[in-house]
Amino acid sequence: PEVIALRAATKTYAGGLTALDHADLTIRQGELLAIVGPSGSGKSTLLNLMGTLDRPTSGRVEVLGHDVAALSDRRLSAVRARWIGFVFQQFFLAPHLTALENVANGLLYHGIGHSGRRDRAAEALRRVGLGHRLDHRPHELSGGERQRTAIARAVVARPRIVLADEPTGALDSASGAAVVDLLRDLNAQGTTIAVITHDQALAAALPRRVRILDGRIREDGRTVLSAAQP
Ligand code: ADP
Ligand code: ADP
Repeated sequence: PEVIALRAATKTYAGGLTALDHADLTIRQGELLAIVGPSGSGKSTLLNLMGTLDRPTSGRVEVLGHDVAALSDRRLSAVRARWIGFVFQQFFLAPHLTALENVANGLLYHGIGHSGRRDRAAEALRRVGLGHRLDHRPHELSGGERQRTAIARAVVARPRIVLADEPTGALDSASGAAVVDLLRDLNAQGTTIAVITHDQALAAALPRRVRILDGRIREDGRTVLSAAQP
């Protein structure tokens, strides 16, 4: 099934700039793809539409079968909180909280009690290879460990989709490679993942690449289905 579908999706900002121009993009369950393009090409705009953070000016965006334009802000944030995990270049971890507490906060609005949240957070941290870092604060972690903590937080609620915006942008190449391996593992376990990146090596390592230039999308080369494709 399709988890994200854009049909002639267009986003024109106040002021008249069209950042996304009749974009067509279908992402199926189990895919792992890179979205590549230079600064200002429309990547963040595309990510905001795919993540239900914004609505198209015209055209259609469907996320998990929901027509994004038809849902209220409340329903949209419910869809987002339940089914979509976000990972950013800058990690956005709370500095005074431990890794475990940061990850547990990813479950705050999921009707799970305090100890249940901590159990699930510990499990997610073990899944990203940080079972030995539960009580460390961000400043006690390496950059790669911080990003893996942020990824644990993004997946602790078991989202269907993970959207990652330059997840290796702040990392050295070894830590970046570890983060890419982790995203591949999560994908192999069934999570659909879209990665925005400038990093050609990262993009080349993923099964599908979509290029964006001046708000226009095109598929790059042949599409290879990832291992988790049903
Ligand atoms: P990228 O993420 O590839 O750098 P963006 O989606 O951020 O691209 O931006 C695409 C274009 O839209 C750029 O010209 C940018 O300046 C413009 N843009 C992005 N967000 C806004 C906004 N909120 N208001 C007006 N213009 C915007
Ligand atoms: P990125 O590296 O993700 O492209 P940017 O620096 O382009 O980040 O944009 C950062 C934020 O500012 C985004 O939320 C984007 O939508 C917004 N933005 C970008 N360009 C403009 C603009 N011309 N006017 C208003 N907001 C903008």
